[in-house]
Amino acid sequence: MSAERPHVATVEGVKVDTRHWIGGERVASAATFTDISPIDETPIAEVSAGGKAEVDAAVTAARAAFPAWSTMPVAERSAILRRVAEGVEARVEDLAVVETRDNGALIRSHRRGVMPRVAMNFRFFADYAEQELAHPDMEVRGHRERVTYDPAGVVAIITPWNAPLMLATWRIGPALAAGNTVVVKPPEDAPLTASLLADIMKEAGVPDGVFNVVQGVGAEAGAALTAHPGISRLCFTGSVPTSTRVAAAAAANTVPLSFELGGKSPLVVFDDADMDLAVDIAVEQFDNAGQVCLKAARMLVQESIAEEFTRRVVEKAATLSQGDPRDESTDQSALINRKQFDQIDGFVQRAKAEGAKAVLGGGPNEQLGGLFYSPTVLVDAPAGSEILTEEVFGPVVTIETFTDEEDAVTKANDTRFGLAATLVTGDAERAERVSHRLHAGTVWVNCFFVRDLGAPFGGNGKSGIGREGGIWSFDFYTDIKNSVFSPSGWTSQKEN
Ligand code: NAD
Repeated sequence: MSAERPHVATVEGVKVDTRHWIGGERVASAATFTDISPIDETPIAEVSAGGKAEVDAAVTAARAAFPAWSTMPVAERSAILRRVAEGVEARVEDLAVVETRDNGALIRSHRRGVMPRVAMNFRFFADYAEQELAHPDMEVRGHRERVTYDPAGVVAIITPWNAPLMLATWRIGPALAAGNTVVVKPPEDAPLTASLLADIMKEAGVPDGVFNVVQGVGAEAGAALTAHPGISRLCFTGSVPTSTRVAAAAAANTVPLSFELGGKSPLVVFDDADMDLAVDIAVEQFDNAGQVCLKAARMLVQESIAEEFTRRVVEKAATLSQGDPRDESTDQSALINRKQFDQIDGFVQRAKAEGAKAVLGGGPNEQLGGLFYSPTVLVDAPAGSEILTEEVFGPVVTIETFTDEEDAVTKANDTRFGLAATLVTGDAERAERVSHRLHAGTVWVNCFFVRDLGAPFGGNGKSGIGREGGIWSFDFYTDIKNSVFSPSGWTSQKEN
């Protein structure tokens, strides 16, 4: 950071303003926090650390912008959001290199998967709002009934670091498309792309105050946002322990919540499965060093194929190249920070002490050092042990066996989470039966991670509250109203 422009960090050659974005202006806080890259644990930016005052200013700006934005014709709003999508597309490379430096996820996924999807989060919901927010009137006993999706107000959005821009825009896109204004609190471990998004919003013509960013740490900026009486919806993506604090703070506000939380998702492999496919899906779980909420880290394999499956997963996972995520050929990067690193290693060492066997990895990558952790496959963990029940959020998977379909379903559903479940089988009828019985928000059969923005997404149990995607997003981000019009002047219809 240069002395003349202390609020600008140059990250991989891209200039990022590290102040808040409030009411269409950059606002600095006296306090800052240091943003550290997981790749080499070096500081890459000093970022404004907001608190109550900044959150209050942002919510006030968002409320002031709400009347004009919420009453703007949908087509006009959608046109602006399509320009945001184009702005994201024009800056995919900048966003990708900054995000990779900031959160350590692979550059190749950011370039080809994540950032194009960020653009989709705006384009899809811009189109969807135009198509779906105008319901045809219904004729009910001679009266006309009209359902309208009224924008709710200010939407507060709090996001985690593992896919910060993608997860934020998956909420921002529909919230804005439905006519709300937004205040985002990005994760302190990867705060930078939210700031670039503010630049893109400005260039696309999003009116001042419609989109606001308050940077800061969770306990201060995050807590202040969740407790602010001026918000109308609260979206939180993050861990279960934080969610209880967020829910408690929000309770006083009686604000509808949408929670996307952790998981302990199963991968169920039957003996009739295509083994190549099953192994490919299993090894995909090391993507983003396992720091993915949907990952199927809990592998359940039918006894008769367990040996072959385990051997082949280990063989394939052992070929993953670990290293700098800025290199297109790297398969697995570093963990996000030292705290996470120690936590993950703690899980693995305790599992081993309890009797689990590491058939691959089992500890830090000593060769690379830093925050690199070896892809780890654990077998023989005692039933009910922590490694089989708690979310690890790292490059660690367990393999257990099951005897038959009943046993598979029982074990798969034996969790307090319910975000996703993946099933690999060659039997179409079994696929129908078992998928129906799996307790999860998303079930993948012979595939993984495929999802359309029009489909509902969310978790059961401790994995979340509510569903978003398609019309489910608009259900959440609007106050749905039914207006009944008399056909002939001011009559009232008393009977029911
Ligand atoms: P986290 O709960 O530590 O933090 C998430 C966000 O909450 C951050 O922005 C943080 O600053 C903020 N925060 C922290 N304390 C707060 C408080 N008291 N009040 C308000 N905000 C506060 O989670 P993380 O470590 O950043 O992310 C990993 C977790 O996120 C994992 O559990 C993962 O499964 C989950 N996740 C879920 C999904 C999903 O869609 N279900 C997606 C990605 C990640």
